[in-house]
Amino acid sequence: MTIKSSHKNAGSIRRAAVIGSGVMGAGIAAHLANAGMRVVLLDVVPQALTAEEEKQGLTLADAKVRSRLASAAVARMGKAQPAQLYDPSWASRITPGNLSDHLSALGDVDWIVEAVVERLDIKRDVFALIESVRQPGTIVSTNTSGLSAASMAEGRSAEFRQHFAVTHFFNPPRYMKLVEIVPAADTAPEIVQLLSEVCERRLGKGVVIAKDTPNFIANRIGTFGMLVTLEETLRFGLTIEEADALTGPAMGRPKTATFRMLDLVGLDTLLHVVDNVRERSTDAVEQAAFARPALLERLVAAGRLGEKAGAGFYKKV
Ligand code: NAD
Repeated sequence: MTIKSSHKNAGSIRRAAVIGSGVMGAGIAAHLANAGMRVVLLDVVPQALTAEEEKQGLTLADAKVRSRLASAAVARMGKAQPAQLYDPSWASRITPGNLSDHLSALGDVDWIVEAVVERLDIKRDVFALIESVRQPGTIVSTNTSGLSAASMAEGRSAEFRQHFAVTHFFNPPRYMKLVEIVPAADTAPEIVQLLSEVCERRLGKGVVIAKDTPNFIANRIGTFGMLVTLEETLRFGLTIEEADALTGPAMGRPKTATFRMLDLVGLDTLLHVVDNVRERSTDAVEQAAFARPALLERLVAAGRLGEKAGAGFYKKV
């Protein structure tokens, strides 16, 4: 298939938009900006200000994007950066804003990365919105953890679908080396190739091309492992700290012990990911393995969504 695209190589991707400024969107925007791209980072206007945002004097319209950006910045600045990989002017290349006021910005970029909440209905609405302003040739990718690429692209034009794929970054996007690229049925091979080059050459990632199966490769395996760890922790009456001591440093993973990792991921996001495999699986054993853990449901219902909410399995002090 030959497609008409203005993007001939990885170097021609200069302007990007990231939609969703949560845990992943803010981190992806920071990483793209650090690689030299100009980035608009857009989110919906929140219903209310948090106490922290009120203290900072933010308005409702800029609260979410600005505060998320600030925390991404702090996380990045706080860690040692190899000098050759770190460009201190990265933040000046990011323009945060709310989606409704800045929709037209999506008509003026080379690559749009969708990183909104893991719900098919919401993502599909976002792609319809993107299509209403996107210029032909603009690449669109989604950071979904494992929703069906084919379902997300449904209803979009053939030209949109040719330029659409999954680019699944891992958390935190700055440090995790892997990106899963998942083509949907109509994604043009040239776009898969181009996205691979951008991720590898511009963003310093290792790429695997995965099939459009529930949760792709890494999350299918990783989420299963996390659910088993949760189940065994409860079965043996371990504390969260004990389970993390066993599944973290003792296994050579000082920073990614199970429950710390789940708090970083977001417990609501984890539930969406678990639901996705269970609802799309036709295998009874797999459906049982991906049942919703009651403890996880209780934490999410209580608003303990993880680090982004100030508390999850751990409480931030
Ligand atoms: P999050 O809950 O931290 O952020 C989601 C953001 O989307 C919120 O800021 C929310 O306001 C915004 N949003 C919701 N509806 C919107 C809309 N209609 N338009 C614009 N913005 C909207 O979630 P996250 O953890 O950043 O996850 C984002 C995506 O990345 C999901 O698809 C998730 O599965 C995927 N992902 C998450 C992780 C992780 O570890 N958290 C890792 C890899 C991939």
